[in-house]
Amino acid sequence: RTGRLRGLCLRHVSSTRQTSPIQRRYVNQFISRVQHDDQPALEQRQFRLAVKDNIATISPNPEEETPLTTTCGSNFLANYRSPFEATIVTQLRSRGALLVGKTNLDEFGMGSHSVHTAFGAVAQERGQQAVNKHSAGGSSGGSAVAVATGEADIALGTDTGGSVRLPAAYTGVVGFKSSYGMLSRYGVVPYANSLDTVGLLAKEVRPIAELILGVGADGKTKGLWAEHDPLDPTSLSPAARRRCASQRDCYHSGPLSKDPYLLKNLKFGLPLEYNITELSPSIRAAWSAAAAKLQSLGARLVPVSLPSTRHALSAYYVIAPAEASSNLAKYDGIRYGTRFTSPGESDAAAATEEGSEEAGEGILYARARAAGFGDEVKRRILLGAYTLSSAAMDNYFLKAQKVRRLVRRDFNRVFALSNPLLDKPESFELSELPETVGLEDKWGPTEVDFLLCPTAPTTAPKLEEVLSEEEKDPVSAYMNDVFTVPASLAGLPAISVPMRVKAREDKDEEGTGMAGLQLIGQYWDDARMLAVAEAVA
Ligand code: GLN
Repeated sequence: RTGRLRGLCLRHVSSTRQTSPIQRRYVNQFISRVQHDDQPALEQRQFRLAVKDNIATISPNPEEETPLTTTCGSNFLANYRSPFEATIVTQLRSRGALLVGKTNLDEFGMGSHSVHTAFGAVAQERGQQAVNKHSAGGSSGGSAVAVATGEADIALGTDTGGSVRLPAAYTGVVGFKSSYGMLSRYGVVPYANSLDTVGLLAKEVRPIAELILGVGADGKTKGLWAEHDPLDPTSLSPAARRRCASQRDCYHSGPLSKDPYLLKNLKFGLPLEYNITELSPSIRAAWSAAAAKLQSLGARLVPVSLPSTRHALSAYYVIAPAEASSNLAKYDGIRYGTRFTSPGESDAAAATEEGSEEAGEGILYARARAAGFGDEVKRRILLGAYTLSSAAMDNYFLKAQKVRRLVRRDFNRVFALSNPLLDKPESFELSELPETVGLEDKWGPTEVDFLLCPTAPTTAPKLEEVLSEEEKDPVSAYMNDVFTVPASLAGLPAISVPMRVKAREDKDEEGTGMAGLQLIGQYWDDARMLAVAEAVA
C-alpha cells in the first residue's frame, strides 16, 4: 500500500506522459478510415447543417433567399440580423454544409430543457400522442431534435456546461464538445466566456470525426482541430496547437488497415462520485452493462475518484451566471437590442419621462430588460450580480474559482496523459488528498485513458413535468448538469453517445428508452476520444 501511495506522489512529478505507440497506431488508422472509407473527398461532400440560434449567420442565407435572424431565443434579439457570419459556420460551409435552418434554444443558452425561450418550448415527440412529449434537453434542444428527426445531418450547438451533451443524451444522438479553445467562438453569442465551447451533434460519431479530423484529397488535414481563428482571442494559437498535437501525436494520418483491437489497450475510469443516489436505476444498470461490454472487448475498467466533483455543480452555477451577468449588461434597449417603447410613445418622450435625460435612460434600460429577458435569464443576472458584489465575492466567486482549480486537478491526476497546457505536471501532497485516500483501490489504479460515465442522471423527463417543476422550483433543473459541468470547468473534450436503457418499473416505461454514455478525455485528446467513441457507440 505504501509503495502504491508513494507511486502516486512520484508519478505526478514524472516527465510528460504520452500516448503509447500502439494507441497512436490505432488512432492513426481511425483517422485514415475517416478519410478513405469509400467516401468522396471531404471537399466534394455536402450535408445539411442546422445551426443553434446563438451562432451568427448572415442574412440572407446564400442557399435560399430567406432572411436569417440570430435571436438567441430572446425577445431582445427577436429581429436581429447579423451582418457577419460565425467562423465555425463559414468553416463548415467550406466543407460542404448547406444551411437548412436555425434551431431553438434556451435563451442565451441558459437552461437544460429548452423551455426558457421566447419562441415556445422545444419538445421531442415519441409516438403519436401529444401526451408523449418529452424534454429535448437544453440548451441545444432544437439542434438535437433537428438531428434526431433527420431534418439535418449535422447540427451546431454550444456547450457551456453540457448543452450539447445533455440534449444528445435525451434524444438519442451523438453530442461532441471539443477541448476549450479548439473550435472558434467568433460569432457565437457569449454566455460564459471561460466555459463556452462549440459542439457538434449527429446521429453517429463518424460525420463529426470527419469534420474534426478529416483529410482532404490532397492528403492535407482539413480537420477543424487545426484551425486557429485570429478573430477569437480564446482560439488556441497555431504554435499551441502544434505543441498539443505533438504531445498527442495522433493527429496525423497513417496506415490504412482496420484494426479491431483498439479497445484492448485502453483503460477506462469509472468515477465513483458519479454514482449518486439521484442516478436512475435504469441508467445505473445501462452504465454497468456498457462497462461490462467494454471489458469483454478487452478494455480495462477501474474505479477512480474525482473528489471535487461534488462541489463542481455549485461552482459552475456561481461562475456561469457571474460571467453571464457581465455579458448581458450590454442589452440596454438603447444602443443594443430591441427598443421596448410603448406604442405611440417616442424614445424622446420615454427618455424624458422623469425630467432628466439620465433618469430617462435608466427607465428605458429597466423597461427594456424587463420586457426583453425571460425569467431564467433574469434569475441568472441577479445571481451573477450578487456573487460578484463586493460583499459576496469572497464567499462565492473566489471560492468557486478555487473549486474549479480542484476539479481540473482531479482530472489531471487520473488521466494517463498529461495536460499540455501545464508547463510542468502538477504534484500532489499526500496531506492534500481527502479522506478517501485510505481506500487504496480508489487511488491506486489511476492513469486512465478516458472516463466513462452517464451523461445525465435520468432519461428525458416529460415536458409537462418539466414545466410544472420549473414553476415550483426553477433551480431544480440545474441538477441535470451534474455529470456534464466537471468537464466544462476543466475545458476537457467530452462526448455523449446513445445508450439504450431498459424500461423498468422505476417510471421509465413511459420514457424515451434513451440515455447518454459520456466519455471524457484529457485536454486535446479529442482525436483519440472520437476514435474510441465510435468503437464504444
Ligand atoms: N444547463 C446549463 C446552464 O443552464 C448549461 C447550459 C449550456 O451548456 N449552455 O447553464
